[in-house]
Amino acid sequence: MSNEWEPIMCYANTDTNDDGTVTAFCYCGWSDEFATQELADAAAEEHVNLPDDLDKYDDDDDAPATA
Ligand SMILES: [Zn+2]
Repeated sequence: MSNEWEPIMCYANTDTNDDGTVTAFCYCGWSDEFATQELADAAAEEHVNLPDDLDKYDDDDDAPATA
């Protein structure tokens, strides 16, 4: 076990639902549902390669993040 704090590493995967839709999900908690496997794969890949800009949506100004 490492003593260093490690950021959550995005690792997206997809899962086909009974109704034919495909859910893309990630270890970080992100998930979304898509009509096709192609869309889900594309979104999953995009999510993993995305810089962590998404975090900024929830932040107030430049307030430091608190755990
Ligand atoms: Zn993620």
